[in-house]
Amino acid sequence: MKQGIHPNWTDQAQVTCSCGATFTIGSTLDTLKVDICSKCHPFFTGEMKFVDRQGRVDKFLKKVQVAEAIKAKGSTKKSSSKNSEDPKSYKDVLRQQQTVLKQVAKTRVQVA
Ligand SMILES: [Zn+2]
Repeated sequence: MKQGIHPNWTDQAQVTCSCGATFTIGSTLDTLKVDICSKCHPFFTGEMKFVDRQGRVDKFLKKVQVAEAIKAKGSTKKSSSKNSEDPKSYKDVLRQQQTVLKQVAKTRVQVA
């Protein structure tokens, strides 16, 4: 190994997840902060979860509000004729599915 060009390796690097889980790995850094880990990733938990980095969902919702304001100004005739039922957002649909899945899981536990 060539001397003086490699970073210092430590086997005791502390990783902290945004969910609160901590674990130790080998790394050239002493501490690491991660947004998602195997304790909270939907693939491992089997649950649906929203990962909102840098407020992207809020940013999108602001865009939607602006778009609806423009829409309301432009065409008042169309909006009054239809829209008997409010369309559900994708987030609402996923939340609904999640609660259904939780209920199914509970009933399975009660049966077993
Ligand atoms: Zn985590």
